This record gives sequence, C-alpha cells and structure tokens, in this order.
Amino acid sequence: MTETNRQLVLRERPARAITDDCFELVTKPIPNPSHGEVVVRNLWLSFDPAQRGWLNDIKSYMPPVAIGDVMRASGVGQVVASEDDRFPVGSFVHGRLNWQEWTLTNPSTDEDAIELVPPEIDDPKLMLSVCGTTGLTAYFGMTEIGRPVDGDTVLVTAAAGSTGSVAGQVARLLGATTVVGTAGSPDKRAWVREVAGYDECLDHHDRKVRRQLGNIAPQGFDVVFDNVGGALLDAAIFNIALHGRIALCGSISTGYRPEKPTVGLHYYQLLTTRRARMEGFLLPDFLERADAARAQLLSWVRQGVLRVEHDELTGLERAPEGLRRLFEGRNLGKQILHLADPV
Ligand code: NAP
Repeated sequence: MTETNRQLVLRERPARAITDDCFELVTKPIPNPSHGEVVVRNLWLSFDPAQRGWLNDIKSYMPPVAIGDVMRASGVGQVVASEDDRFPVGSFVHGRLNWQEWTLTNPSTDEDAIELVPPEIDDPKLMLSVCGTTGLTAYFGMTEIGRPVDGDTVLVTAAAGSTGSVAGQVARLLGATTVVGTAGSPDKRAWVREVAGYDECLDHHDRKVRRQLGNIAPQGFDVVFDNVGGALLDAAIFNIALHGRIALCGSISTGYRPEKPTVGLHYYQLLTTRRARMEGFLLPDFLERADAARAQLLSWVRQGVLRVEHDELTGLERAPEGLRRLFEGRNLGKQILHLADPV
C-alpha cells in the first residue's frame, strides 16, 4: 500500500489528442477525515469520452476541469476512514473519485458525491460499466428513444465499446430480429458477433460501409443507436427505414475537441421523406428510474443473456493513455484503470 496519495493534475489543455504531458503527477499526504468526511481508497477508475470535453475551456453542461485541479473521473473505491455513519469502513462506494489513489470527500455537501454500491452487486466494477453510466445509457437510449420491437432491424455504432455492446444486446432482448454493429478492428468485430451475439459487425473504416449497410438491411434500419456521429451517422441516415428512430447517444468521431466538427450530414433530407425521427438524449434525464433499470440489467447479466467486457489498465500513470484509448478505438468493452485490490 502506498504511504502517499499520488494525483494527476491538469498541467495544460490538450489542443488535439490527449498527451501524457497535459498532466503532472503530484504527491500529497493521505488525507484524514474531519467531521462528516470520508476517505476512500480508489480501486478502479472509469474512462469516459465526456472527460475529453471537460478539458476544453468552453461553456458546457459541466464546468471545465481547471488548470492545477486533479482530473475529474468517476470510480469505485472502498472506505478506509469515515466520519459519516452511512459509509462504514470497508464499504464499497462509487462516484466522483478523480485521478488519484485516495479521495477525501464529504458525502453530504460534495457535488456528485459518493454513494454506496448497492449490496446486490457482488462485483463493484460493474458500477462503472453495465450497472453504471454506460449500461444505463444503453438501456434508456434503447428503451426510451430507439424502442425496437419484434421484427425490427437495429444498427449500433461503436458496438464493441462499453455503451454500444450493451445497447445491441438490449435491443435483441427487447425483440429486435436483426442487430448489426460497427467496430474498428477484426478482433472487436469477432467479439461483437461471437460474444455479444450481433448478427453482423462491419468495419467503419471501410469506405463502402454505407453500401454494405444497405446490402444487410435493404428495407433500412428501424432503429439506429449512434455513438459515433459524422460520416458514419450520415451512412446510417442514408439507410434509415420508413418511420425509423435514430437515438443520438454521442459523437466520438468529433474527438470532443474544441474546434468545429469537419463533417456535415448530407442525407438528412431522408428523415423527411422516410418520416424518420432523430433524437438526442442524456442519461441524467432518466436517473430517477436508474434503480429499476439497473435491476433489469443485472438480472440479464446473471441469466447469462447480457455479456459484459472490461478492458483494464493498471497504475495511475497510465490514466492519460486510458482516456486516449477510447479515441483511438483500442478498448474492447469498458475501459477502466485498476489502482488497488479490495481489502
Ligand atoms: P466506448 O464505446 O467504450 O469507446 C469509444 C469507442 O468509439 C472506441 O472504442 C472506438 O471503437 C469508437 N471510436 C472512437 N473514435 C472513433 C471515430 N473517429 N470513428 C468511429 N468510431 C470511433 O465509449 P463509451 O464510454 O461507451 O461511449 C460511447 C459513446 O456514448 C460516446 O459517444 C459517448 O460520448 C456516449 N455517451 C453518451 C451518454 C449520454 O448520456 N448520451 C452517456 C455516456 C456515453 P471502434 O473504432 O472500434 O468502433
């Protein structure tokens, strides 16, 4: 166990890709809790594309991470010292733990404060994947926006990623007949077909992907769950079915960088002629129903009909690499960082 708290603070904002130099490793004493505070040993941290957006100095739904601040991140940890009876020593918690090995937090006053990992979740890591942000996003995006029914043909982009891998499996469980994905490497496409059970998975780098989508779904896609945006979204719109629904989950192809996206949509007029609907959504709008959704997802995992993959790096110094991997398409399933084992 380290005697000190290592943290990664933001040194400079990335202009384009995230580099290790954007962050500085600093060492602080392990904090002691005062009245109402809790000290958490961070076990696993989550990497989320939104973190790239938080590094831009622009107005958004959340303030940017300030220069000199510890990088913002969610994670799972274990309470090691507590001045709050709701969080006994040894309990597992999740919430905003940030890029550091130990977190001092006040659960009553801190924004996005920690919460206990529900007792029915035996592997706390699941709170960063299928039972956390990405699983719930997939669930609500599919059940509320995409709404596939029996006989539907569904397309999910970034299907080997944390959100996409769950979204397509949820579509199947809701009754979709054909589920198609896209992913960037042969290994990932094989996993999407063979483990996640998609019928087909295409290479989004292939210049003929728009035509390939048309060959697979000549009547068009009834539901599109889009994580990528840009040219791939355009190809999906080109292949949308009559009365199709497009759930806009994210647009990672923009890199979430501060400059304007370079790719526009050329086929949006087809939304009119095919009477299709394209709708963006954000998970926080559905959080009141998170417990029920989590129970359903967990039950599917336990039945073995929903497969979950974690892609784990080890060591705080690898955190910038972990975030970069999402934008380089290197992760299979949920990208996380392992910092310590539970006690
Ligand atoms: P993820 O899918 O696990 O990882 C990102 C994946 O995106 C990569 O593995 C890569 O896979 C693909 N990708 C990266 N750059 C790309 C590019 N230029 N073109 C095409 N594909 C590219 O990440 P995640 O955390 O699950 O997030 C997925 C999406 O959901 C993101 O857009 C994120 O912003 C969004 N999201 C939205 C909400 C919401 O509330 N709406 C909540 C959470 C996440 P391949 O290249 O192999 O396909």
